[in-house]
Amino acid sequence: MELLYQSTRSKGVKVTASQAILKGLADDGGLFVPEKIPGLDISIEDIAGMSYKETAYEVMKLFLTDFTETELKSCIGKAYDSKFDTGEIAPLTEKAGVYYLELFHGATIAFKDMALSILPHLLTASAKKNNVNKEIVILTATSGDTGKAAMAGFADVPGTRIIVFYPKNGVSRIQERQMVTQKGSNTSVIGITGNFDDAQSGVKAMFNNKELARALDGHNYQFSSANSINIGRLVPQVVYYVYSYAKLVAKGVIQSGSPVNFVVPTGNFGNILAAYYAKNMGIPVGKLICASNENKVLFDFFETGVYDKNREFMLTSSPSMDILVSSNLERLLFKIAGEDAEATRGMMEALASEGKYTITADMKAQMADFAGGWASEEETAAEIKRVYEETGYVMDTHTAVASAVYRAYKEKTKDNTVTVIASTASPYKFGTSVMGAIGSGYKGMDDFALVDELSRISGTDIPKAVEEIRTAPVLHSTVCKTEDMQKEVEKILGI
Ligand SMILES: *Cc1c(COP(=O)(O)O)cnc(C)c1O
Repeated sequence: MELLYQSTRSKGVKVTASQAILKGLADDGGLFVPEKIPGLDISIEDIAGMSYKETAYEVMKLFLTDFTETELKSCIGKAYDSKFDTGEIAPLTEKAGVYYLELFHGATIAFKDMALSILPHLLTASAKKNNVNKEIVILTATSGDTGKAAMAGFADVPGTRIIVFYPKNGVSRIQERQMVTQKGSNTSVIGITGNFDDAQSGVKAMFNNKELARALDGHNYQFSSANSINIGRLVPQVVYYVYSYAKLVAKGVIQSGSPVNFVVPTGNFGNILAAYYAKNMGIPVGKLICASNENKVLFDFFETGVYDKNREFMLTSSPSMDILVSSNLERLLFKIAGEDAEATRGMMEALASEGKYTITADMKAQMADFAGGWASEEETAAEIKRVYEETGYVMDTHTAVASAVYRAYKEKTKDNTVTVIASTASPYKFGTSVMGAIGSGYKGMDDFALVDELSRISGTDIPKAVEEIRTAPVLHSTVCKTEDMQKEVEKILGI
């Protein structure tokens, strides 16, 4: 049966999965959602015996129904290969009774690799399927991790170009170095003087600019998005929730059918939404615990039912979560509003004009699956230190936000359900903050000296992604003002 995708903002829009992947955003500015979240058609016991790739096929085939088995398996095979440093792809590590789902074993050592290593293949397959002969221009705003992971995925992929915007002063030094050393004749990276929300708004404005679309068309270009609003990113992320649940069954930690909580360090709400989709597919999930840093707009939303972005934007040690407009929340709103596109559009318009909206009591009641929490900078650093001292495990700042939120949640609720924390980045990516939390003696040390020290104290190998940038030359140095983003794109494309 074919599964079609509809827009969250108007009725009647129906596209295939491949069309949704190609377009990124719907023409009305809405996000594509499946008409119905499909149920798993195979038992957990069967999945428990499967590899990551096999699980990926079983999950993704239900969402991407216009891909043939051969096409989908080819995409999966090209994505989850030796770019990952473990055949498990997403290993589960247990420390002191908590399970860490390590999503950082890919090319750029952050969880974005889980989806962005397959998106270019899904996109080029979608183009072929829809007879698109134009060059696809991937336009992306990044809070630090998406940009590098997208460029690594798209570099030198024929028929594609990629342009990445990042907040010049809002990413870690290792993140910036990873981006500005990116190779590939089809890649461009630009720092902007604004923050991530500015970058994201600028990109959205270009997507919605009809005049620009015509100019692109005249030069045989077409925009697409690698941001987490693309269903080609959301769907691959559902896989690891299914996989990790089945692995807990395989290891005998739980019996099939008993619930598991997932704690997800959240920014744009893409990762946790994938967990919600996994739950809707039939995975027994207890609570979805949404962990925020000091930009705790989501925590406040879960508490009060009011989403209000009118507040100070905080730069934290978990920059990939420094976000005040969580784009993927729109998909949850649509669902809890009873798939009411009109109502969803109203809320998004209020967000655009007033920076806030309020959901109904009925909608709020439907969010009972979620628990919100947040951790301050001090709590995050203390959590890194505590877990290191108690277990020897070194976690990155984003994972530490989740870990701190989980500890507070457990203390408050006494909920003893088996719990999985989504570990979204390698500590090597945020070495300055991580080592600063572990010992005050590391302050002021050079980035790469810290990397060596981290390897020594944790007894882990330095990831290839970090070794590579030690000596790599800087290839990108453009910085522009937020309002000049479009000009930069026009310059790069020669339009
Ligand atoms: C992107 C990112 C997040 C936030 O994920 P969302 O899907 O945007 O909520 C958390 N941690 C890290 C390391 C990330 O790169």
